Amino acid sequence: MQLRNSLSIMLLLAVIGIFYRGSGANTVRGDAVPDSAVTLEQLCSGKAHIVDLTYALNDQNAYWPAPNYEPFRLKTIATLEQNGVLSKALSCPEHLGTHLDAPNHFEKNQPSVDQILPANFFAAGVVIDIAMQVSANADHQATVKDLTDWEERHGPIPTGAVVLLHTGWGEFWKNFARYKNQDVMGKLHFPGYSPDAARWLIKERQVKGIGLDTLSMDPGLSKDFQVHHIVNSAGRFGLENVAQLDKLPPRGFHLVIAPMKIESGSGGPTRIFAILPQRDPQK
Ligand SMILES: [Zn+2]
Repeated sequence: MQLRNSLSIMLLLAVIGIFYRGSGANTVRGDAVPDSAVTLEQLCSGKAHIVDLTYALNDQNAYWPAPNYEPFRLKTIATLEQNGVLSKALSCPEHLGTHLDAPNHFEKNQPSVDQILPANFFAAGVVIDIAMQVSANADHQATVKDLTDWEERHGPIPTGAVVLLHTGWGEFWKNFARYKNQDVMGKLHFPGYSPDAARWLIKERQVKGIGLDTLSMDPGLSKDFQVHHIVNSAGRFGLENVAQLDKLPPRGFHLVIAPMKIESGSGGPTRIFAILPQRDPQK
């Protein structure tokens, strides 16, 4: 009995050790605070704060406004009343609602969504807030300076993080017309990453992926989708229509990213969770 107890304590310490070592690599240098150190034990026993960064799928969800794309559809195929069981069938484009762009979305010979290594779906997260720049200019593209300004305030972006851009665009989520913001010429106006910023995040910070709260990593006005090409040619994924970014701190949390495993898919609807230390009820 005693042996079993000490074995389970050793196992627990090992798990905690793995988590602390993991977050240690992401520790901010100097006097800044370390990143979230929620243990798996705390997470599984409800002693963590979880933010769901996913919009619920429904027929109002935003999707890329181009031919052959269509809304989310859900059809009831059996009911409790008639069949004794409730069951539905769904259909939607891969790139609808909160979703992941796999590396094969814009580049040949890159992994499809089912081929992305699972380890890439767990990462330290950071939120870069550009809502102020966007309120002055809907076409704002996050610049390298936006990123380095953030680092001056919050410390270096952890190596291998997933970076999320908070543009404030989530405010328009429930109004697809406003969300895609198409002008009379048919041009879309919403913010995104600049190609330089995407390149910098991959080269200088080795991010696992980048995401944001709009329809596309590229700003709405983009014609050549440079940011998609940069991200995908580096074998990285993108996350689009990410919800609730206003509920996250700039850093100090981890992400769990779970796309549908569509064989040879170019992406797919994705559940995303942010895990933070439990909030102090006094604060
Ligand atoms: Zn997409």
